[in-house]
Amino acid sequence: MSERGNMTIRFRGTRGSIPAPASANTRYGGNTPCVEVRYHDQLLILDAGTGIRLLGDDLNKKGQANPIEATLLLSHGHWDHIQGLPFFSPGYSPKNRVTIFGACGRVDQLQLALVSQMTPLHFPVGLEQMRGLAKVRELSPGATKLGDFLVRTTQLNHPGGCTGFRIESAAGHVAYLPDHEPYRSTGAQDANALQREIVEFVRGVDLLILDTQYSAEEYSCRIGWGHGCLPDSVQLGIDAGVRRLFLFHHDPTRDDQQLDHMVETGRAMAIGSSLLVEAASENEIVSLTSANADPMTEIGMLQVQPIGRASVTPSSSVS
Ligand SMILES: [Zn+2]
Ligand SMILES: [Zn+2]
Repeated sequence: MSERGNMTIRFRGTRGSIPAPASANTRYGGNTPCVEVRYHDQLLILDAGTGIRLLGDDLNKKGQANPIEATLLLSHGHWDHIQGLPFFSPGYSPKNRVTIFGACGRVDQLQLALVSQMTPLHFPVGLEQMRGLAKVRELSPGATKLGDFLVRTTQLNHPGGCTGFRIESAAGHVAYLPDHEPYRSTGAQDANALQREIVEFVRGVDLLILDTQYSAEEYSCRIGWGHGCLPDSVQLGIDAGVRRLFLFHHDPTRDDQQLDHMVETGRAMAIGSSLLVEAASENEIVSLTSANADPMTEIGMLQVQPIGRASVTPSSSVS
């Protein structure tokens, strides 16, 4: 069993669909999805949107003497979630080891997406030149032990598919559902059952990082586009007994002031519950120290995989 210590989550990219750099966006940020998760000396990276570029630069600066080891979990192959990978500088050094994982049954599609975006039509350098990267590997359909993390997956409601991850350590539990549309809008007969599955998947997590691209009004004109909206996100957090909800995959048109307003609206919706509503800000670091559960006692179908040991530790202050 791992010793107890801090688990830190740093948002490297929070924007959905396309990078949105703008002077009015500087607080919540313009980079597309990438989240850095650390526990002990291990590094998990969630998605490879444009936010992964500066993470790579930071790793290179601090890890010059030692090989960089990390594990990248990819939710799906949509461009906003992989477009930073060609600019992830540690991936080009053969001394480094970056292991990439996708959900069971999704690996071939992910590998194709990574290769395709680096063909000469789109990019001058091929994926094969990223010699620090290994081919995409498959997570177990149940739970996969990655070092001191336990990773579970679920399939989300998103065109072309998207995988949600639940990451557990002895310090806390985090759910990452980057692209997901509420099931209620699908009109499917099993919508309620699917919604219950999602509720159980995120049950009791300390942090829920959830696609909340739209307000209720915006969503009414964008049903079927594959993204979430504020009332459903807050309700999911309440129903699942989540501690902190982080709105994520911010719409590219949304400026900081509008996101502040979304947070206030979400907090008003959560009154009477214990849910805390926030919006993910680029470079914000969240630290978890309390244990909800010992993940090593909850393992069902377990597939043990090695995990990279990060050669650097977070340098920013913890918030
Ligand atoms: Zn996306
Ligand atoms: Zn997507």
